[in-house]
Amino acid sequence: MKQLGSHSRVLFTLFTVIFLTAFTLHAKKKKSEEKKPRKIILMIGDGMGLAQICAGTVANGGYSHFQRFKVIGLSRTSSADDYITDSAAGATAISTGKKTYNKAIGVGVDSLPLKTILEYAEENKYATGMVVTCPITHATPASFIAHQASRSMDEQIALDFLKTDIDVFIGGGKIFFDKRADGRNLLTELSAKGYQVKTDTASVAAVKNGKLAGFIADKDPKAVYLGRDTSYLRNATLQAIQLMSNNLNGFFLMVEGSQIDWGGHENNIEYITAEMLDFNRTIGAVLDYAANDGNTLVIVTADHETGGLSLNEGTSYRQKKVSAKFSSKAHTGIMVPVFAFGPGSEQFAGIYENTELFYKMMKFYGFR
Ligand code: MG
Ligand code: ZN
Repeated sequence: MKQLGSHSRVLFTLFTVIFLTAFTLHAKKKKSEEKKPRKIILMIGDGMGLAQICAGTVANGGYSHFQRFKVIGLSRTSSADDYITDSAAGATAISTGKKTYNKAIGVGVDSLPLKTILEYAEENKYATGMVVTCPITHATPASFIAHQASRSMDEQIALDFLKTDIDVFIGGGKIFFDKRADGRNLLTELSAKGYQVKTDTASVAAVKNGKLAGFIADKDPKAVYLGRDTSYLRNATLQAIQLMSNNLNGFFLMVEGSQIDWGGHENNIEYITAEMLDFNRTIGAVLDYAANDGNTLVIVTADHETGGLSLNEGTSYRQKKVSAKFSSKAHTGIMVPVFAFGPGSEQFAGIYENTELFYKMMKFYGFR
């Protein structure tokens, strides 16, 4: 009896140890799952409809990284005051979940500020960043960080960058920071706020950690077909990801292929295909990162189509030749595609208003 008693005691202790170990492991696992960083990389091809994507695919000989997405949806792009949106109202719809009037930057139809997804990310102590191929104060990036009645207010939009905690931004538009009507030098003020302020592509690219205000042009960066470095957008995007990766909560990154739209306004197919190839290379690099990371949601979409582009007879994969026709010098109102990859991507299937993109991102982060 005595022997059996000590035997049970050993067994009891053993079971207790096993139970406690299992419980602790389970709790630890649950905790680490909860603490996984949540990252979104939102990529906007300005003016990028299906025809622009096809033109880039033809110029690339028949393949594009768009083919790697398994979830595809369609976004309805109308603004509050027009069937055809401009880039300001289009980006504000995506960044705030509210339709607004054309030209509005991060404000509603009443001109009052609306909190953006980037600002929600900052409020929740996530890292934030933007990488573009236009002035950083231009309509699309501005609508994620600024609140102004009109997109033409570049100098006021530049001031709004100082009111935020954005970790990294790279693009053109330096003159709106250092050649201002009010005489202020916002580059000096950004330095004082702890940013590494860099004013050419090489010194921007050399920054390996910390906060970065990167300017690659006084105003508009060059078009790719006129000589912009074809590694810029891809490398700056990967650099922004790396700079934000230390944040254990996660990050929000907006990347814009800004000049696809400008090629559309010019009805210039060479301009469009070069910008599409540039954007496609960047998408490839982002998907490689996201596939390896496993916890990054990648969304690729557009604010609207530009040019009413169609690809006609004479277009050839083999000759990498696009026979283009345009029906407009302006934006058009057709739905634009949404491509999603990674955790949470399933919710991007279907047809919905552009404002839904905001709510789907909020849901992925768990923000309220
Ligand atoms: Mg834009
Ligand atoms: Zn446009």
